[in-house]
Amino acid sequence: MYKQRLKFAVTVDVEDSYPEAVKGVDDFLKIFFKNKIKATFFITCEVLEKYPRMVSQIHREGHEIASHGLTHFKATEKRLPQSSYLLNCSIDEAALEIERSFKIFKNHGYEVIGFRAPSFGMNGKILSLVDKYFAYDSSYIEGKYKPLSKLNIEEFPVSRLRWLNIPLGTPYLLKLNSLNKKWWSLLPKKDLLVFYGHCFDFVTPNLKMLKKNIVKKWWYHRECGLSAEKFYDSLLKTVKKKGFRFVTLRECLHN
Ligand SMILES: [Zn+2]
Repeated sequence: MYKQRLKFAVTVDVEDSYPEAVKGVDDFLKIFFKNKIKATFFITCEVLEKYPRMVSQIHREGHEIASHGLTHFKATEKRLPQSSYLLNCSIDEAALEIERSFKIFKNHGYEVIGFRAPSFGMNGKILSLVDKYFAYDSSYIEGKYKPLSKLNIEEFPVSRLRWLNIPLGTPYLLKLNSLNKKWWSLLPKKDLLVFYGHCFDFVTPNLKMLKKNIVKKWWYHRECGLSAEKFYDSLLKTVKKKGFRFVTLRECLHN
């Protein structure tokens, strides 16, 4: 009984950072189906509008759909005002982004209750805007969030590994996994762990664009998905073995 108190929320950020990035959603759906897991997908509106059938498949398979803002492009890429790096926006722009992201999902028939800011670009002011439309937020890495008493919104920060203090997410863990497989023992001992992955974990980008930067090339290289598949297989199995129950963040609300 005690063990079932332990919950593990797998979340996946879906953004089309490069053209082939969203292809990895299929791999996630297969792995989740195989392991009978329901996850939370934070999806940008850009992806929703470009790939509505893909999003409805995620939904049909019982996963939670949540908002990842309008888009994920950096302000430096001159895609403002669409840029959703909320920390670079004025407060009015940020308010509009958050409202629009909520309404676009609604117009597509999704009652989303969760929000994650692109690139975890969050602060107290922005959180108070998110609070107007969403029931929970997951835009902080653990340790950075200080609860704001005036807000109703629930925060589900991404967990960190003990000792190493790195976020429980990819690409960090994918890289750590290729260097040392013993990191499993560093999972924090808490009732709820929040993990985040990316749709592109399974997809190696066109490395030409990264050619000049050796570090970036190593960071982005996903070995055509093979290592990601092994990584997720062992992640999910280990978590199960440790007595965690897989949950969506929606299920964690007020629980
Ligand atoms: Zn993202």
